[in-house]
Amino acid sequence: MTEEIEIMIEDVAHHEAAHAVAYVSVRRLFKTVTITHDDEAGSWGAVHHRAITGRNVDHLSHRGLTDYAFICFAGPAQDEYRLGTYDPDACKSDTQDGLDFIEKAAFGHMQECYDDVWARAKKFVRDPKRTEQIKTVANALLAKKTLTCDQVMSLLGKDQKSQ
Ligand SMILES: [Zn+2]
Repeated sequence: MTEEIEIMIEDVAHHEAAHAVAYVSVRRLFKTVTITHDDEAGSWGAVHHRAITGRNVDHLSHRGLTDYAFICFAGPAQDEYRLGTYDPDACKSDTQDGLDFIEKAAFGHMQECYDDVWARAKKFVRDPKRTEQIKTVANALLAKKTLTCDQVMSLLGKDQKSQ
């Protein structure tokens, strides 16, 4: 592995870890988080969750919708925090999914809702406790490549029964 790719994978691990910690923080479940290359999507790293997308959310409350938007933005917010900037192209699906949730939640207050959720994601990744948790999950991802939701919760000292 070249040094450049190694550094990139560390960034990917922190990005995906931020999504995973965000999930756990709002008590929602995902299946797995991975930093392996998805040949089909041509991208590195993913959080595989249940069949929740911005197009399939009619059952969610306003809080649920903004939680999912927050989870989407946690990755780009982490990149911005860690790297000083983030690549909108690399985060295209995060942004699109987040906007889909916001569109459903915002009732015409798109910009306000977007600003709120972004501010929440940015604050989240800068919180020292969260920064520590994200680092812990990122290191485990670098070692194992894929973690289940249960594994992430136990890394964070939460078991499923008490969540
Ligand atoms: Zn992402």
